[in-house]
Amino acid sequence: MHQIKYALFYDFHTSPNHPGVGSKFDAEALTERFLQCGVDYVTFHARCNMGMAYYNTKLGIKHPSLEKDLFGELAFACQRKNIALGAYFNGGLSRMEALLHPDWARISPEGKIYQEPLDSPFSMTMCYNSPYREHLKAMTLELAELYPLKGFFFDCMGPFPCVCPHCVPLMQKEGLEPGKLQDVISFAAASASKLADELACGLRKVNPDYLFYFNDIEFENQKKAGNYLEFECLPSKSGGYLYMQAVPRYMRTLGKPCVHMTGRFHSWSDFGGLRNLESLKYELLFAMVNGLRPNIGDHLLPEGSINEAVFSRIEEVYSYLRQYDRFLEGSQPQTEVALINPNGKPRLGNTAEMLGAMRMLSELSLQFDIVSKEASWDKYKLLLLPDNIEFDQEIAQRVAKHLTEGKCIIASGTSGLDEKRIFPEAWPVRFMSAAKFDPAYFQSQIPGLIEDMPFSFYEKAYEVKAKPGAEVYAQLLRPAINFGWNGIIPEYYNPPYEKTNLPFLAISRQVAYFSGRVFAGYHKKAPYQLSRIVEYALKRMLPKPSLKILQAPSYLQGLVSSRANQTQVHLFACIPEKRGSESESIEAELPVSGLQVALHTGGRRPETVFLALGKEPLHSWLEDEYLYIKVPDFSGFAMIVVDFPDLPCQGSIAT
Ligand SMILES: [Zn+2]
Repeated sequence: MHQIKYALFYDFHTSPNHPGVGSKFDAEALTERFLQCGVDYVTFHARCNMGMAYYNTKLGIKHPSLEKDLFGELAFACQRKNIALGAYFNGGLSRMEALLHPDWARISPEGKIYQEPLDSPFSMTMCYNSPYREHLKAMTLELAELYPLKGFFFDCMGPFPCVCPHCVPLMQKEGLEPGKLQDVISFAAASASKLADELACGLRKVNPDYLFYFNDIEFENQKKAGNYLEFECLPSKSGGYLYMQAVPRYMRTLGKPCVHMTGRFHSWSDFGGLRNLESLKYELLFAMVNGLRPNIGDHLLPEGSINEAVFSRIEEVYSYLRQYDRFLEGSQPQTEVALINPNGKPRLGNTAEMLGAMRMLSELSLQFDIVSKEASWDKYKLLLLPDNIEFDQEIAQRVAKHLTEGKCIIASGTSGLDEKRIFPEAWPVRFMSAAKFDPAYFQSQIPGLIEDMPFSFYEKAYEVKAKPGAEVYAQLLRPAINFGWNGIIPEYYNPPYEKTNLPFLAISRQVAYFSGRVFAGYHKKAPYQLSRIVEYALKRMLPKPSLKILQAPSYLQGLVSSRANQTQVHLFACIPEKRGSESESIEAELPVSGLQVALHTGGRRPETVFLALGKEPLHSWLEDEYLYIKVPDFSGFAMIVVDFPDLPCQGSIAT
């Protein structure tokens, strides 16, 4: 199986009405440009979402203005230059094929073939259970027999709900109701996964080493069919930089090679877009230190000519990234906190508590993964259960094992409740009910942590009772009058009125519990009072984190990775700016000066400490199990490398 290092992805959807497709296409010149950029893997369209094929097909519809075997010329040129080629098929969209065979098109639960907006490529999608299914499989096999390929990328394989005459009898056979939308969506998702399994199964008979990825099928639903994962993320389109930082922390726990695909443009079909160097460098270096390989999405113009400005940008980005390869090869993120997300990727982009917890942990430079039930939780020192992680039997067993090993937990809201609405024994509180007052405030009793006043946390609270022996560090306050409309007065102004005896933060030997949805609240307003009090709980539950950053500017983010006898500290200094209503970007690499970092040594004595691209040793000293390092002034990014000879610590050193 090909190991992707530097990839390019070509989006080549072309209207059947476009003239001169491929008229200026020069496979030798194009692949020469790939080589100059150091690219080893390219994904290119065999058949696009318009239903147009770009190779000499006997089964599909070759683009009417294409006079050559464009895909074939590219495939053999790639083979001559030892560049691996992946074939793109759009699994869910194929407009001209749907128009030729109307019974291959999906019928929506409203009974329509076309969907609004009509000018979107998604206004007509395919039915996975129609004869299109066998047609798609046959085309992929036709392609595999004709050309030297290393992989397949199947796009747009989302769960498009269909109630066509092909689907309904199959649904009824499984006891599903075509009139129930949730049944229809579940069936569509299962149909897409089944098609993915069949595509991979057929193609593996041609070559068992093909790479497979199925876009829009959830990562955990392509466990069998796929063998690597791609994270398609244009920050202007896909949830911004926060989402960009979240997904790699999850996908890297699923045990497959991972790729991060950004784009040179702001959105797909943005033929005139060229994003700045700073954004592309940041996105792809962040991906690499998080264990993903870089991929840049591009459009080839229909005539096939080379866009020199785009290649120049790609070449500059990949030259920059390659400098760090010798340090990142074989290196893995070193994580100690598990942010629990039992249902995998769908919750990441849509739920406030996951994004709030993710942001807070990142801001505190804690080293964490986002884990579902697909990954082991065994290696983590701390589990974070944000706001509403209620327990089934499997989660309860995993948490019990974690506690038995003497490790700690931070939980909030209803996290920990079983089906009888009872918290585990180790929780410092008993659950009573949702709070009968709204809004709720909290007041800290921790000396000097934050001001002595009632603070908002912008989310719901729960009434809990401290168990004997639990330490209570903050309590809830209630307003005199609840928020709402009483029929005459809009009760909009609801200041704190009196303290309750209800804990807001309670801590037992192994569990710190907040009785409010603090992570969802942090996602809304990011108030410092929440960051401080959660940080206090984190320090209690994880007193010796692997990385501490001293005198850090607020925009600094620190990540740790390691390989045999070497640890790397990655420091990113930039701020995503939302400059356009539809765009977010990195505009500047920000300066950092006077910074110190402290790396937990695990009892090992460091041999050398240096900047990745520098030669001079850095000033460092050992103190209280930590290696303190004075970081030279830098802008944008710095990687500190610490070599350990793997000998036990002999005492303090200074260099
Ligand atoms: Zn159907």
